Parts: sequence; C-alpha cells; structure tokens
Amino acid sequence: MNIILLGPPGSGKGTQAQLLSATYGLKHISTGDLFRAEIASGSPLGQEIKEIVERGDLPADSIAIALIEKEIEASGQKLILDGFPRTVAQAQALDKLIARGVFEVPHVIMLEVDEALLVERLTNRWMCSQCGATYSPWRLPVKEGVCDRCGATTFEKRKDDEEEAVKHRLRVYHEKTAPVVAYYADKGHLHRVNGAMSLQEVEAQFVRFLGNGEGPQVKTHSSH
Ligand SMILES: [Zn+2]
Repeated sequence: MNIILLGPPGSGKGTQAQLLSATYGLKHISTGDLFRAEIASGSPLGQEIKEIVERGDLPADSIAIALIEKEIEASGQKLILDGFPRTVAQAQALDKLIARGVFEVPHVIMLEVDEALLVERLTNRWMCSQCGATYSPWRLPVKEGVCDRCGATTFEKRKDDEEEAVKHRLRVYHEKTAPVVAYYADKGHLHRVNGAMSLQEVEAQFVRFLGNGEGPQVKTHSSH
C-alpha cells in the first residue's frame, strides 16, 4: 500500500503521515525533510532550496521530482508521501513511475481544513532545530521541551511560518496544489478527510477508510 497525503500547509499532513506510518508500517517520505536534509548538507542545491523555501515559495518541480524519485527507487513500495506531488507536473512524473511499475497505485487522501484555522495553526507552531518535527499548542511534545522524534531540546520558529510567509504559502497552495486535487478527483482516486477535527478523530477517519477495500497489509494472519 502506498499513500499520498494532500492538503494545505497547516492541515496536519506531517503529523498524520507520522501516525499512519507507524500504524501501517509505511515509510514516511516528506519533501520538507528531503529539502531540509539537502540544505543541511551545505550543497549548492541546498543553498538554492534554502532561499526559495524561506520566502515561502516551493522549489522547482525538477528539484522536487529528482529528490523524490531517488527515494522511491531506493525504497520500493509501502510509502507515504507528504508534500508530493504539489503540482500537476509532479503528479504526472509520479504517474510515469506508476506506469514503470516502480510505484504502486496510491491511495490519495485530501485533508480539508478551512483557511482561518490554517493561519491560526501555522502562526502558532514551532519546529525541532535538529530534525524538523513540528509542534504546536495542540500538539506538544510528550515530555516538555524535548523532541519526541530525536530527543533534541532546541526549537525554533520556522521562517516560513511568519504571518506574511504563511499567507504567501496559502496563495501558492491555491494556485499550484489545488489543481493536483482536481487531477486526482478526475481520476476518481481522491478520498476527502475532515482535517479540522482532533488528531485522534482525523486518524480514526483514515483507519475507517484504509481498513476497507484492499486494506492495509499489516496482519500476517487472521484470528477472527
Ligand atoms: Zn527532533
């Protein structure tokens, strides 16, 4: 099973991707993490990505596609993609990987949240300086001041979570990513989930849906 999670910035994609990856044994591939890793490597490409991301824009399709293709070809199946595809060109690149048999036809799930709530969420969150895990008043670390994912104790506000950059990101989202939602809806592949509810309620919607049909391949035997 492969999953593509779509949704505007602040819809909770990253957090849900982490939960689903644990529940179904999927590898979580976040373009945000791939970009941050490239930036941290100090490469010229990383420097280019840094400047683009800090002003609230998205790296070019060619950059995102190259990074994600490398991951998909390394990891095979059982992936959850978070932040990709963000444009129709990226969705078409993914379709080519599906046609080549490198990537299994995914469940495409759209997390829907209204705009006022997105702005409130995004301007009130912070990130682990070490690994990029995101926290907010609605999702605090289990142990105060310590990152759940990597144990680091330093946090920072993301530059692209400042209010001006947030509004810019939402405009970019509507312009570039809303057509991706239409692209999958036209194929009849899209499932919509209400992302405005609590984490647990959102996850329950996923489990109800993914438990049906072909279902997740997590059980090795059936006991009832
Ligand atoms: Zn961390």
